[in-house]
Amino acid sequence: MRELYDIAVVGGGASGLAAALSAAKQVEQMKQPLHVVLLEGNARIGKKLLATGNGRCNLTNQNIAAAHYHGDRKLAAPVLERCPPKKILKFFEELGLLCRELDEGRIYPYSLQAASVLDILRQQAEQYGVEILCDCPVSRAARQKNGFTLVSNERTIQARRVILATGGLAYPQLGANDSGHRMVQALGHSVTPLHPALVQMKTEPKRAKPLKGMRSMAEAILWCDGKELQRSAGEVQFTEHGLSGICMFELSRNVEPLLRKNRKLEVSLDLLPEYTEQSIFQMLCKTAEKLPQLPGADLMSGLLNKTVGREILRLAVPDLPQAAHGFRTGQLRAAARMAKAFCFPITGVMPWSSAQVTAGGVPLQELCMDTMESNRCRGLYLTGELLNIDGDCGGFNLHWAWSTGLIAGKACAASLEKKR
Ligand SMILES: Cc1cc2nc3c(=O)[nH]c(=O)nc-3n(C[C@H](O)[C@H](O)[C@H](O)COP(=O)(O)OP(=O)(O)OC[C@H]3O[C@@H](n4cnc5c(N)ncnc54)[C@H](O)[C@@H]3O)c2cc1C
Repeated sequence: MRELYDIAVVGGGASGLAAALSAAKQVEQMKQPLHVVLLEGNARIGKKLLATGNGRCNLTNQNIAAAHYHGDRKLAAPVLERCPPKKILKFFEELGLLCRELDEGRIYPYSLQAASVLDILRQQAEQYGVEILCDCPVSRAARQKNGFTLVSNERTIQARRVILATGGLAYPQLGANDSGHRMVQALGHSVTPLHPALVQMKTEPKRAKPLKGMRSMAEAILWCDGKELQRSAGEVQFTEHGLSGICMFELSRNVEPLLRKNRKLEVSLDLLPEYTEQSIFQMLCKTAEKLPQLPGADLMSGLLNKTVGREILRLAVPDLPQAAHGFRTGQLRAAARMAKAFCFPITGVMPWSSAQVTAGGVPLQELCMDTMESNRCRGLYLTGELLNIDGDCGGFNLHWAWSTGLIAGKACAASLEKKR
């Protein structure tokens, strides 16, 4: 371990690894060596990276655009333009990682193993001389005359430049914590309110429990005080607490702030989006006529997941007939209506331990977007989820992490070159 480093990167996740590598690679163009250290609080780097994309690491998306981001997305646009997916793919290809595109523009390592991404990043970082120190949680960062002092356990580390890549609060079980937010605030930054995003939504237990474990394709709408707020389509997973699945994650971002303002939220699911209410009604009439002895509770089993169909009939038809022949027209209409708008009151979202990403963070106007350098504290660079930007599901968050890491690492190294 050295007394003084040129660059200390705090956080060995996606953006920290990209930043450390990008800084260290600049040495090839510089006349003198550059001492880069990566400080990670966990016993290993990249723990969250290994969990991404269900262990497959959806590392970017062909459809990168500001419209897929939330928070300070206007300010983020130039970063996304400078780092389109092809630039990220080139970065990985040069490191020796092949990638492949699967559904909806999602890009994964060719091996479909997140471990391939982490292995390549770690090996290349070591190859380029980055010193990696694990079990090194940084608790304090102070600006000094010629750089920074970082405090970790009993150690004090001096660095001329610092890249803070400590991530957000999502998934604390993998090391996420608020130390980065506290450090940036101590260095003069603000942090917008933080709340979980890409997370399961909670409904009333009596509505969730009967459907626990079921899955259905649906077109979902989030309603706020009776007005449509947002739509998403895909597979909905019914859980013990409420609604999950990618399309629910996409609707979850604004739930917590809206509930804090006492707004009434509801999700409605259209479980048969290709069919009109009238055509579903006609199908139910036909089934009741052709199969008069079919148990009443199973009338929808040819249309929907059996448990979901039964729950719709239980809720929509209070005096459920024993057999199909007993249905009255009004009851069949009510069942058809509910298949098109199966509604769930939303009571909250699951906690940070279930969230994939953090909404909120350091406002982008407090940084120079060409370099990711703080404009409140010279020599400090900020990357990744620590910032007030979060993306949709599909590789958008890792894309932001790589892009900001690459920009910060390069700019940080270049700033030292200028000084020499
Ligand atoms: C389960 C799960 C699946 C996901 N899947 C995807 C996906 O497939 N595609 C996608 O685009 N996004 C995905 N994401 C989101 C994505 O992983 C994050 O947005 C991204 O990793 C953020 O990168 P980062 O570098 O900002 O932070 P992180 O990757 O979280 O890295 C931060 C690192 O800093 C360390 N650290 C924190 N504080 C300190 C400190 N004080 N001192 C030293 N070290 C510290 C942490 O231990 C951590 O290693 C997923 C998230 C989760 C939780």
